Amino acid sequence: MPFADGVQVVGVDGDDTLWLCQDGFDAAEASLARLAGDGFAAELEAVSRRNLRLYGYGVKAWTLNCLEAAGPDLQEQVLAHGRALLAAPVELLPGAAEALDALAAAHRVVLVTKGDLVDQRRKLAASGLADRFDHVEIVADKDVPAYQELLRFLGCPAERFLMVGNSEVSDVAPVLAAGGWAVHVPHTTTWALERAAPTEHPRRVQVASLGQVPALLQGGLEG
Ligand SMILES: [Mg+2]
Repeated sequence: MPFADGVQVVGVDGDDTLWLCQDGFDAAEASLARLAGDGFAAELEAVSRRNLRLYGYGVKAWTLNCLEAAGPDLQEQVLAHGRALLAAPVELLPGAAEALDALAAAHRVVLVTKGDLVDQRRKLAASGLADRFDHVEIVADKDVPAYQELLRFLGCPAERFLMVGNSEVSDVAPVLAAGGWAVHVPHTTTWALERAAPTEHPRRVQVASLGQVPALLQGGLEG
C-alpha cells in the first residue's frame, strides 16, 4: 500500500514545524545559565519534568520552572525573558505557507498545537497562516486520548489521518498508537522532554523539510 494511502485529513504541528520556537527558549536558557552558573540546565530539566503534569507546556510554565531552578536572585531576569518570549515576533520556517497551500489542494488541513492557549493563539494570528486551516486544535498535551478526541470531533477514522511535526514524542508516537499516519520533520534543536529514539513503523516516515510533505502524499517521494 502506498504511504498515506486514503489520508483525508492532515494535522500540522505549529512550534518548530511551521514557525520557530525552541531556538528562543534555547537562547533564553543560555542567557540565564550564564548568570545562574553550571548546573542550571540540568536543574531546569529536572524541575520541568517534575512540574510537567501540573503546569503543562508553554512560556508561562517555562517561566515558573526557571524561577524554581534559578532561585530568587534571578527573579527579574527570568520574568524579563518570559515576557520577551511571549512578545517575540513569529518567524515562519521556510516554505511553511506554500506547503500548507499544497496540502490543502487535496486534504483538510488542521493545526494541532499544544501549550498555552493565549500564546498559541497569538502566534497563529501573527503567523498569517490562520486562514489556511480548516480547523485549529490547541490541546493541553498531545497524547493518544487528545488525538482520539480530535478525530471523533472531525469525524475522521484514524487511518485517514496523518500528522506532520517535529516531535517524535508529540506528533509521531501518539498518532501511530491511535492508528494514524505520521511524518517526522526534525528541527535543528529539540527540547529535552520532546526527544525520543525514532521508531520504525510502516505508517511513519521522516523527511528533511516540510516542503517535501505534499509530494510525499501525492506519491512523489519514496515512502
Ligand atoms: Mg513542534
